[in-house]
Amino acid sequence: MSEVRIGFGTDIHRLVAGRPLIVGRVEIESDLGADGHSDADVLLHAVTDALLGSLALGDIGTHFPNSDPRWSGADSLVFLRHAFELVVERGYRVVNIDSVVDLESPKLKPYVYQIRQNIASALDVAPECVSVKAKTGESVGAVGNREALTAQAVVLIERLK
Ligand SMILES: [Zn+2]
Repeated sequence: MSEVRIGFGTDIHRLVAGRPLIVGRVEIESDLGADGHSDADVLLHAVTDALLGSLALGDIGTHFPNSDPRWSGADSLVFLRHAFELVVERGYRVVNIDSVVDLESPKLKPYVYQIRQNIASALDVAPECVSVKAKTGESVGAVGNREALTAQAVVLIERLK
């Protein structure tokens, strides 16, 4: 396999009342939260899929089926760390990550640095290697109407010498 590989991941969760809104391991103050089997951390799921994709190792659903009661309410850090360990086992390290979270409201900006730090520490890189961009849905579509939030992530990995 080549020295450098790229991975891509996306995710979507419905927004509902009575659930916490967790993005990048930060609990966001919000009237609506993310619905899902685990903690529904949309960004960690997208990054996990990007890591798995970088080495063509399947996706988060094959590694952690949401029919499995073990993952009910699970901390998505478990998924991310598992994907990262598979990458490390194969002799690679993470170079950088770029990502986008689409959320109509509240504004994610005040949380972005903490989110970057959380992902960086999980993947043994500096926060400067993790980009998180927050966008809205411009009041249209599922994001704009606050029916859902989505995330996209790309990751570059490199084989260690
Ligand atoms: Zn998800």
